[in-house]
Amino acid sequence: MQVYLSENVFLGMILSAIEVYKSECYGLLLGLRTNEKFVIDYAIPYQSAKRGRTWAELRQDKWMVISKIVKNFPKLDVIGDFHSHTMFGESRADIVLGREDVEYMSENELQIVVAINDKIKSQVWDNNRDGTISGTIDRYHCKVAAYYLPNSDKSHQPKLAEIYCPFAVGLLVKGG
Ligand SMILES: [Zn+2]
Repeated sequence: MQVYLSENVFLGMILSAIEVYKSECYGLLLGLRTNEKFVIDYAIPYQSAKRGRTWAELRQDKWMVISKIVKNFPKLDVIGDFHSHTMFGESRADIVLGREDVEYMSENELQIVVAINDKIKSQVWDNNRDGTISGTIDRYHCKVAAYYLPNSDKSHQPKLAEIYCPFAVGLLVKGG
C-alpha cells in the first residue's frame, strides 16, 4: 500500500504538530483511495480539539460535521486522520500506535502518526526502510508513519504503508 503526500499535506501535518508541541495535534485527511494507494489532498487540523479531550472522543463525532460537507465534492472523501505523538518529559515519542489508536481505526481508513521530539542533530528528510519518512525541521525531529488495515486481515492489525512524498525527501530545512 502506498500513500502519496503532497507538499501541502506534508507541511500541514508537520506545522500542526509543531504548533501545539508538546501537546498532541489531531486532524482529518481528505483525498482519494484506490486498491493500491491513498492520495491525500488535504490535511485539515481539528480546530475544536481542546486540551483534556481525548482523540477517541473527537473521533466519534468527527465524521458528522465534515463528511456531510465533503459529500458535496465528488472527488474527495474523508480517508482517514492524523495525530501527533510528542515527547513526554524525558521520554521520546515514537510512531507506535497506542491501544486506542488501534481500537478506533476502521477498515479502509488511513491513520497517520507524526512522532515529534526535540532535535538531537540535523537530519535531511528521507525515506526509511519501514515505509516511514523522517527528518528535522527547526529544533524538532519528526517521523511520519501511515497505517492501514489490510482488507484480508481479520486480526485488526494495522500495517505500515509506504509513504511517497517527493517534496520532503532530500529536504534540508534551513536551520533544521
Ligand atoms: Zn496515538
